[in-house]
This record gives sequence, C-alpha cells and structure tokens, in this order.
Amino acid sequence: MRSISILGATGSVGDSTLKLLRQHRDAWRVEALTAQCSATKLAQLAREFDARIAVVGDESCLPELREALAGTGIEAAGGRAALIEAARRPVDITLAAIVGCAGLAPVMAAIEQGGTIALANKEALVSAGEVMMQAVERHGATLLPVDSEHNAIFQSLAGSDIADVRMITLTASGGPLRLLSAEELQRVTPDQAVAHPNWDMGAKISVDSATMFNKGLELIEAYHLFPVGLDRIRILVHPQSVIHSMVEYRDHSTIAQLGPSDMIVPIASCLAWPRRMEAPCEPLDLAAIGELSFFAPDEERFPATRLARAACEEGGATPAVLNAANEIAVAAFLAGQIPFTRIAALVEDVLERSNRPQALASLEDVLTVDSSARRQAQAILENA
Ligand code: NAD
Ligand code: MG
Repeated sequence: MRSISILGATGSVGDSTLKLLRQHRDAWRVEALTAQCSATKLAQLAREFDARIAVVGDESCLPELREALAGTGIEAAGGRAALIEAARRPVDITLAAIVGCAGLAPVMAAIEQGGTIALANKEALVSAGEVMMQAVERHGATLLPVDSEHNAIFQSLAGSDIADVRMITLTASGGPLRLLSAEELQRVTPDQAVAHPNWDMGAKISVDSATMFNKGLELIEAYHLFPVGLDRIRILVHPQSVIHSMVEYRDHSTIAQLGPSDMIVPIASCLAWPRRMEAPCEPLDLAAIGELSFFAPDEERFPATRLARAACEEGGATPAVLNAANEIAVAAFLAGQIPFTRIAALVEDVLERSNRPQALASLEDVLTVDSSARRQAQAILENA
C-alpha cells in the first residue's frame, strides 16, 4: 500500500484524483485531504476514503467540518498553519492541487519532507521558481508534473538526454475565445470565458485558458521543470487538445504524448510512475476526431504569453508579480468588476509599476512579493 495526501481535494483535479483512487482502493491509504472550505464535501470524502486528517484552510469552516466528522475518528483541523502541518506529514506522494499561490507554502512543506510531489498547482512553481527547484534538490524530493502539457513533455523525455533537446513545443487549445476579434473580446462575460471546449476545470484556470495566461504560466513552469533554456520552448495552438505537448531532438525526431482531454490520464501517469495504471476514461478515438490542426499564437489579441515570456526572461521576482496580478485580475473579472480584456492590461500595469527585488532567496521573499503585487493590483483597480 502507498500513502497519499491530496491538497485541494474538493476541486476539479482533486475530483479526478479521487475518481482514480476509487478504482484502486486497495493500493492506497489516504493521509490528508484538504480544501479551502466546502466542509460537507470534504467530510464526505474523508469518510469515504478513511483519511487520517481533513483540513480546511479557512478556519471559520472548521466547526462545520468537526461536526460532520464527529464520531469517525478522523482528525479535523483548520487554518493556514494546520494546512501546512498536514502537508508536512510524510507520505509516499502528495497531490498538490490547490489553486493559486495559496498552495505554495503547503507545497514547500511537502517538498521539505522529501517525498514525491505530483504538482498540478502551477502558480506555486511560477511564483517560487528557483526557490522551489532548489528546495526539491536540497530535500531530495521528486517533482512529477500533473499539468497535462508538462506531463506530456516528461513522458516524451523519458530515456533521453535533455542536452539532445532542440525544441519543446507546448500545445495550447487556444481556449473558448480563440476565434473572437479584439472588439468581441471586450464584451466577453465570465460564463463565456469559463466554457472551455475541451477541458472541464476550475473557474480560475478556465479564465486563464481563455486569456492564454494559462499557457504563459505553463511556459514559466516548463522553463523550471525542463532546463533547456527559454528560447527552446515555444507555444503552438492546437485546438483539438490531442497532442498534449512534444519534444524535438537534435536529429529532428519529435516525440509527442497523445491522449484524451481528461486529467485522469496525467494524474494516473504520476501516481503510477515509473509504471502504469488503469485509468477510468474513454480512450482516444483518432478516427472520430479526424483531423488535427495547428496555428501560431496571436499575441496581439492574447498578450498573456508575451507578458509571461518577458517575465520569465527577467526572472527574479517578476514571474511572482505577474502571477499575483493575474490572480487578482481573474477574480475581479469573475466578480464582474472588469472587462475580459482588462485582465492582461492590469497585469501589464502592475508589471510596469511595481518595484521588485531582482532575486528571491526564500519562501518568505516569494510570499512578500506576492502580497505586495496583490495590494498593488487592488489599488490600481480601486483607483480606476
Ligand atoms: P479548483 O478551483 O477546482 O479547486 C481548487 C482546490 O483548492 C479546492 O479544493 C479548493 O477548496 C482549494 N483551495 C482554493 N483556494 C484555497 C486556499 N486559499 N487555500 C487552500 N485551499 C484552497 O481548481 P482546479 O481546476 O482543480 O485546479 C487546481 C490547480 O491545478 C490549479 O493550480 C490549476 O492551474 C491546476 N491545473 C488544473 C487542471 C484542471 O484540469 N482543472 C489542469 C492542469 C492544472
Ligand atoms: Mg495544462
């Protein structure tokens, strides 16, 4: 039996992970399940999977969680410190699926216990960059990418020498708004933006897919995970989301990973790694899909990937600023406070105005930059 903790167990990636565990109940023991609140759902899952501990990040949800777990023997805890404490418990694998930089401290705690971290929470890696990669190294932890593109690259690199890589191609569906004009983009509603054609995901990443910030964050994520240099990572729009990414080698052989658009597949790849496990989803039916198409990204209508590439080139605290500003902008858009096209504009504003350190040395440094960029983004919104 292997042990697992799932950070962000009530979300979309959490759901897919638990769906997979349901099929393999005898192989896994669940240590911790966490959520921000959703106490009823979290308690239900903790009971079903007989977790040792259930944790809500928002302490005000703890009484409800306690009540729902009364008499089960499952420990209930709440608050940021409890979340980090739960993430620090030794397990064979931690599935990191909290959304946003809020997941960073728990991920760092999991890294410090030196286990295997299956990382979905890309914002954590984008913000912390080298700080996280150095911690992985220092604590002998293993980082496995859950993000479908990075998982595809990871699989396509297996057995090869990274020095032989000529180009990594990150594929992008282009999101639900790919074909809209610049003018139409200004009137996009939250409902339109979250209606992704291929993937069923949480609201934040769905908006990120619509703006292409998701691909921008993934560019920075790939830069840290696969040390080939930023100029060897490019983005290609591929609306069918069948090829999840590819690696071209110096001899011009390209190795790609294909699969259904279901997060169960990359999650299964991480949980079973370096072996394979059954995944409960429909297999890829290429004859039904018929054709695959590819386009260069349009950075005029979707400036996010340009901003992310520049932030990655600048390095230091800049990616953390970009991420924090984007989190605030997405929340404001979802709340109906700003138009869709203001998301990238706000991020650009914050990047232009913020005074930021050139290098980040610790988790505390990253969190300081993150909160000051959030404050700055809020201030710009309030003064607009
Ligand atoms: P989601 O919104 O569906 O779920 C987020 C989870 O995190 C929930 O359990 C929620 O309770 C918890 N959470 C939210 N805010 C929190 C906070 N402040 N503190 C503690 N816990 C908090 O999100 P999701 O779509 O499952 O995405 C999770 C992460 O995985 C994101 O970083 C996303 O970019 C990444 N990811 C998601 C997908 C996907 O298909 N959904 C694919 C690739 C990568
Ligand atoms: Mg992805």
